[in-house]
Parts: sequence; C-alpha cells; structure tokens
Amino acid sequence: MKILVAEDDSTSLFMLQSLLEKWGFDVVATSNGTEALRILQEDDSPLLAILDWMLPGVSGPEICRRLSSRERPDGWRNGEMGRPYQYILILTVKGEKENVIAGLEAGADDYITKPFDSHELRMRVMAGKRILDLQEQLRNAATYDSLTGLLNRRAVISRLENEIARATRSGTPLGVALLDIDHFKRINDTHGHMTGDAALVESAARIRSVLRSYDISGRYGGEEFLLIFPGLERREMDSVCERVRLSFYSVPFHPVECAEGIEEIQISVSIGVCDLSPEFNDVDSILAEADRALYRAKNMGRNAVSR
Ligand code: GH3
Ligand code: MG
Ligand code: MG
Ligand code: MG
Repeated sequence: MKILVAEDDSTSLFMLQSLLEKWGFDVVATSNGTEALRILQEDDSPLLAILDWMLPGVSGPEICRRLSSRERPDGWRNGEMGRPYQYILILTVKGEKENVIAGLEAGADDYITKPFDSHELRMRVMAGKRILDLQEQLRNAATYDSLTGLLNRRAVISRLENEIARATRSGTPLGVALLDIDHFKRINDTHGHMTGDAALVESAARIRSVLRSYDISGRYGGEEFLLIFPGLERREMDSVCERVRLSFYSVPFHPVECAEGIEEIQISVSIGVCDLSPEFNDVDSILAEADRALYRAKNMGRNAVSR
C-alpha cells in the first residue's frame, strides 16, 4: 500500500519514510505542499497521506480542503459515493490543540503530534488502513453488479455524469450506447433462469473484450447494458458498436455450466447510439435519446445498431 508523506523538515521526513518502509508501505515522499496536492489528485494516487501542517506551497489543512472540494481536476470530491477515499493524517507540533481542531475541521481524519512516538504512529496508520479497507469493501459492493462484475446501474450513470462534465469542459467527443439483448425472455423460458444468468455473465465478457481500457460499461438493467466511449467520434462509435453486435451474433453462446444437453444458443443484441451534442448534453437527455435509438434498432428487426 502506498503512503504519501509530505514534510519539509528533512530529518522528520527521513524518519517517517524509514519507519513506514520498515512496516511494509511504499512511501511517496515530498517536501512540498503543491507537489503533495498534485500527487494526491493523480489517478491511482496514494489513499493514505501524512501531511505536515506547514509546507511550502500549500499547507496540510489546505490540501485537505481542496481534496474535499470539487475544485479537483477530476471533479470528484474526496470519498464521493463510489470513489476511493483518501485518509489524511495531519502532523502537528505537540500541544497545539487549536491546530489539531482546525486540521480536523479542514477534513483531516486524524493527527500525529511531533515529535512522534513510532508505536503511536504505527497504530494510527493501521487505524487509517482499516478504514480504507472497509471503505473499499463497501465501495465494491455498492459499485459492481454481483452477477456480471460490471458497474451497476447507479455507478455507470454516475460515471456518465462525470464523463459528460469532462467532455463538455475539454470539448472532446463522447459516445453513449444502450445495448439490449434480443428476446432474452425466450432464453430464460427455453433454457431456464440459470442459463439466462450464465448468458448474462458471458455477455459482459464479450462487451469487455471489444471495449478499450478507458471505455466504460455497466449493467443498466436486467439484460440491458450501458456503454460509454470517451473521445470517440461518430464514425468510430458506429464501427465499435458494430463490433460489439458481431461479438454476440457471430459466435454462439455455450452456457454449459448450467444446463447439460444445450449445445449452442445464438444471441443477438440491439444497440441504440447517441453522442454528446448541444441537444443531448446531460444524463437524462442522452439516455432518453439512446433509448429511442434502441427502440428503432428493435423495430428494424433487432440484431442492429441504430441512432
Ligand atoms: P426484446 O428483444 O424486446 O428486448 O425482448 P426481451 O425478451 O429481451 O425483453 P423483455 O424486456 O420482455 O424481457 C427481458 C427479460 O430479461 C425478462 C427477465 O426475466 C430477464 N432478466 C432480467 N434480469 C435477469 C437476470 O438477472 N437473470 C435472468 N436469467 N434473466 C433476467
Ligand atoms: Mg513544515
Ligand atoms: Mg430490455
Ligand atoms: Mg431484451
């Protein structure tokens, strides 16, 4: 586990770093507040940070405040639903009770007094790690669909909201596709619900296999999936959705683990596509338009991509 340590006193920094490394943590060290804030706002940044109160650039408490505001480049507040929480310990000089209170008020989770006692430091860091581990478990349970492992409905809509904001800010394209399995009820009726479930698991795998690593997919409803494509132009969207459609139709499903005797099931999907535009510029209007496009694909005879 990574820990960021920001401390401008080189002796303290060295001691903190050696202790934390001895306890098995990967330490990212800096003596500068601006640098610490930058690191904490990167993707995949350390989730635990020990920040000195006074730092060149941005102070420890100010870093806490910034992390809990929407001024962050990624637009997320610390710990916002579904996001990893960043646990922050503030370093204060012993006896400065007002500092402790002000630090906690700014959003710090705990504090360590300087000069620190190494056993106390360890216990406080372990307490922080416990909170982070719990938050990760809760976050996973609240974020992912338990059957397919894709994002669940709430999480994928929340990601869409974020991608719309990002694309709007940067003026880059954003494509959205709503995918619905054709005649899925028949699969359940013919082969049983367990086979239906296995087909949904396999569907998620096929969707994932076509998407790029930075595309986003989630289970939007029972047999409906929402796909989000940051940066994709209209033409590229059409071609990637066509590839998704073919990933279902061109290779039969074998949900064998649940029903002996079933050889192959051919499954097709219908896909409705919508791009971010001045007309469709928020979650509701984009989803409504993708849903209308999906309806058109169904009316075209299913196994189709439509706008
Ligand atoms: P269409 O081509 O018009 O989409 O037809 P359809 O049969 O796919 O659509 P409909 O909405 O009538 O039925 C969807 C079916 O998906 C009904 C529901 O039982 C099934 N379903 C939804 N969630 C699950 C699930 O988690 N597991 C299984 N096995 N079936 C599910
Ligand atoms: Mg200092
Ligand atoms: Mg449906
Ligand atoms: Mg369906």
